Amino acid sequence: MPTLPPHALRAVTHLIARRMGSEEEEAVQVADHLVRANLAGHDSHGVGMLPAYVRLLHEGLLVPNQTAETVLDAGALLVIDARRGYGQRMAADAVRRAIARAKELGACVLAFRNSAHIGRIGTYAELAASSGCAFTAFVNVADHHDVQATWQAAEPRLGTNPFCVGVPGPAGPAVLLDMATTTIAAGKARVAYNKGVPVPDGCLIDAAGNPTNDPTGFIRDHSGALRAFGTHKGSGLAVMCEIMASAVAGGQGAFHPPKGGILNSMLATVIDVSKIGDPARVAADIQAVKSHVKSARPGPGYNEVLTPGEPERRYAETRARDGIEVDDTTWGDIRAAAASIGITTEEFDQAARSNG
Ligand code: NAD
Repeated sequence: MPTLPPHALRAVTHLIARRMGSEEEEAVQVADHLVRANLAGHDSHGVGMLPAYVRLLHEGLLVPNQTAETVLDAGALLVIDARRGYGQRMAADAVRRAIARAKELGACVLAFRNSAHIGRIGTYAELAASSGCAFTAFVNVADHHDVQATWQAAEPRLGTNPFCVGVPGPAGPAVLLDMATTTIAAGKARVAYNKGVPVPDGCLIDAAGNPTNDPTGFIRDHSGALRAFGTHKGSGLAVMCEIMASAVAGGQGAFHPPKGGILNSMLATVIDVSKIGDPARVAADIQAVKSHVKSARPGPGYNEVLTPGEPERRYAETRARDGIEVDDTTWGDIRAAAASIGITTEEFDQAARSNG
């Protein structure tokens, strides 16, 4: 199993994105986003997505260097259609516009439609937090076979529909909740399958609707489903992500016939917290909430209480130091995807040996 320093993984990703047709700036953004997802511990949304992106390119379902359409630009309301553009750049560009608008008006609602996969949603909360803004996002996943079984369902009807909230702190978000509304993200079932390990209890059902820990049928045959987290409440949040991103923001819905792509739409809000109150007081109160929550006595089997975003920060410190492990199946799939767009073994290996 190769362990690579972040800069080497960035070089491999940049090479693949460039060869997929992305211009330099887009390739840099895609590489940075994917490797930061690995650093944060979310291998499901890191470089392991590259084979899927290359497949989408071959099928005309992901468009490098796409120009977004501004459907509506009306004060605190921005409606942007990404037209299947490379998600990591399209979403970051749209969120940057929403941040600029929030800095001007205090807040901005961004309805962002029909982007190729936008990756780890927390990345956009980090962008907002670095400008002193709070961020929320309801996201859906469409154009793909359904993967999420809602509460009481024996078969899937939704995507993994992530939800994200971040608040600004002194260095990036002070607290960052960023999660699929399924018990685990679909990519985590892929990672488990690639490693040949079971998924945790309560995450998956088989084709008959019974609980299973084996991701094989789900990944290989598209049978069974991921379960919504948190019984009827998590399931309800998943339904509302679908409604906010498709019906309200105007993106493609899970109810539209899929072409086999991965389309994300997002209803996001960006709020400049300094327009509501003294930023120093807001920062102190966020810290007070964190400290209050963390002061609880840990439950049996735990030695501390964490707040959302802490696991990712810890992963990032360790992985920046020790490198990022990529399992053999994923690495083989990335190599095969690179070869399918004309990257030679020598070019690939040279990028993987990059010294940054
Ligand atoms: P996860 O279950 O690892 O973490 C979810 C949240 O819980 C995070 O905010 C994390 O900080 C927090 N958390 C984890 N352990 C904790 C603890 N012990 N105490 C307190 N908080 C804790 O994440 P996930 O649901 O597997 O999602 C992984 C990634 O997948 C996310 O970045 C998400 O944006 C992304 N995703 C993207 C899409 C898409 O279509 N683009 C779809 C689904 C998920």
